[in-house]
Amino acid sequence: MTELGFTAAVRRLRTDFQLSVITLLGVAALFGIVPFAVYRFQELNYLAGVADSLISAGIIASVIYAWMTGDTARTGFVLAVFCCVAGVVIGSILPQVGHLWGYPILVASFFLTRPTTAICLNTAMVVAIMIYGTSLPSGESLWAFFATATVVSACSFIFAIRNQHQRREMAMLARRDPLTGVRNRRSMDDALQLAVSTASRTGTPYALVMLDLDHFKAINDEHGHALGDEILVNLTKMVERSTRQSDQLFRFGGEEFVLLMPAVDAPGMKAVVQGLRQKIRSTLTSPDGPVTASFGAAHLEGDESWENWLKRADNALYQAKERGRDCVVIAGDDEKPDCWE
Ligand code: GH3
Ligand code: MG
Ligand code: MG
Repeated sequence: MTELGFTAAVRRLRTDFQLSVITLLGVAALFGIVPFAVYRFQELNYLAGVADSLISAGIIASVIYAWMTGDTARTGFVLAVFCCVAGVVIGSILPQVGHLWGYPILVASFFLTRPTTAICLNTAMVVAIMIYGTSLPSGESLWAFFATATVVSACSFIFAIRNQHQRREMAMLARRDPLTGVRNRRSMDDALQLAVSTASRTGTPYALVMLDLDHFKAINDEHGHALGDEILVNLTKMVERSTRQSDQLFRFGGEEFVLLMPAVDAPGMKAVVQGLRQKIRSTLTSPDGPVTASFGAAHLEGDESWENWLKRADNALYQAKERGRDCVVIAGDDEKPDCWE
């Protein structure tokens, strides 16, 4: 493997949780099961030797498939089913110790697939081992296995649910602005790229509005950061209330926001942005009077890059500020800008 390939592989392992779990399981299978397969053959227990070899081969093939296709969700589920079946096979052909392999499988299921699916698979495996297992001779050992397997499964379930919740929360935080709750700049870059590719594929018109609060530094300096924060939160709530569900608002930075509107033509964009200007000046206030914003808007043109589109909106915003603020400038529009008189 080249150095570049190695770096890419490490990056994939770091960013793809499911792939890293599948890979770890593959490594565990290599170091944990393969020596047992060799030992069984040496003991002339060919049945167990072949079973161990097939289980190792199946797990390693799944790892290779996951790396090649990137379809870790399906691989994880198939691998969880495969491991549970393997647990039943080992539990029924290895006397005394076979059921012990059930424990690591009970835990692995929760890493490989959804917690509720894992619970179902684990229950099926435990019941099958209790029915077909040769390693649980007495009634006492049978119920001891049942009780310990239930405890292991329950603990793993709680851990998996917590883990799933935290990963969802982290993914959400990585894409949202903590103050206002609207999407952040990272999300915006992705959304604009998606909009450009959707527009070229389907011909959907897209509008982009950049807005920046006027003289916001003065509000902060004179009345404190807390009031500034409150105004930012009120602004985002107001914009979200005044726009469609399909429109997306992003915090571009500081007191600057971007509104992406799909399926809006040029006259529609103009009406929305002029309405927003009026609404902000009539609803947002500071102790000094109304809070206003300046707007730059640009309609997506054919074959335009998202960076260029954003730049045109930004230039229009710059012109709105130059014209004295509380003003709407539409890129490429020759009519007189809509500004506060
Ligand atoms: P302009 O009309 O030219 O846009 O002037 P401005 O004062 O709004 O712009 P400037 O870029 O000079 O200042 C932006 C201010 O926004 C500076 C900073 O105090 C404030 N700001 C940025 N982020 C936050 C935030 O999260 N909370 C608060 N309260 N203020 C913020
Ligand atoms: Mg400003
Ligand atoms: Mg600014």
